[in-house]
Amino acid sequence: MLVKKTCPGPCNNAWRKAEETLTLRGTEHSISPAWGQPAQCYTCVGRTLEHLAALPQLLIAVRNEAVEGTPTKLTGTIGRVGLHPAWPGQASRLLIDRIVGEMAELQADILIQRGIWKVGTEPGDGTVAEEDAYIGGIVATLEAHWEWAMQHHPAADEAYDRASANPGSQASTWYRATVYFTKDHEQREVERLAPCPKCRGPWLHESRDLRLVNGEPYIACGDDTCGKLMTKTEYDDYVRAMRKSMERGKAFRKAAA
Ligand SMILES: [Zn+2]
Ligand SMILES: [Zn+2]
Repeated sequence: MLVKKTCPGPCNNAWRKAEETLTLRGTEHSISPAWGQPAQCYTCVGRTLEHLAALPQLLIAVRNEAVEGTPTKLTGTIGRVGLHPAWPGQASRLLIDRIVGEMAELQADILIQRGIWKVGTEPGDGTVAEEDAYIGGIVATLEAHWEWAMQHHPAADEAYDRASANPGSQASTWYRATVYFTKDHEQREVERLAPCPKCRGPWLHESRDLRLVNGEPYIACGDDTCGKLMTKTEYDDYVRAMRKSMERGKAFRKAAA
């Protein structure tokens, strides 16, 4: 007999909460869940497809942040400029590389599982001279296989969170990160911080509430499920270490060329 499965997507957040309360306190509820078709519901398939389709434009917008240098200088920033050490590539480059890398990984994963690419002979990313075309190509491939990915990928049942391999969860995470990076967010008023060392998302910000004894703000991750918290010194050390390893990578690539 075919067992009906509930959709692991955010469509069932309220139902999961109600079920939890039922288990914990025996409180009955009348919420009915959205069902997988067979793994995920049509609403989640449609929404994540929209997220995918929006990514090429969003990634261009993220890249333009670096080109146009949008992080505005706050008025009265004297003493604040250069608060944190700089790193090569800027936050926008790191975010693009991370997301495009994960998109390419999911593409290879799907195409190998479907027998279109062979393990070990899949095209490497090499040097991507035409980044927009490269991204457009990956998105088109993912869209073409999305129905399969959402219903038959081995991780299609996984709960949505930042560590999830569920293709739907991954697309939502990419979308959320790029929208956050490009929208008018309070963090635009100050300098962009490096990606979070724990969840790798662009959510690090100077905490408004948490201050060290000397009045210096903590650096906090804005992702609820991550919750990384660092002192300014820890953050500065992290950026310095990242800069060093990136510079070493650059030297290595130069030597190899
Ligand atoms: Zn759903
Ligand atoms: Zn984080």
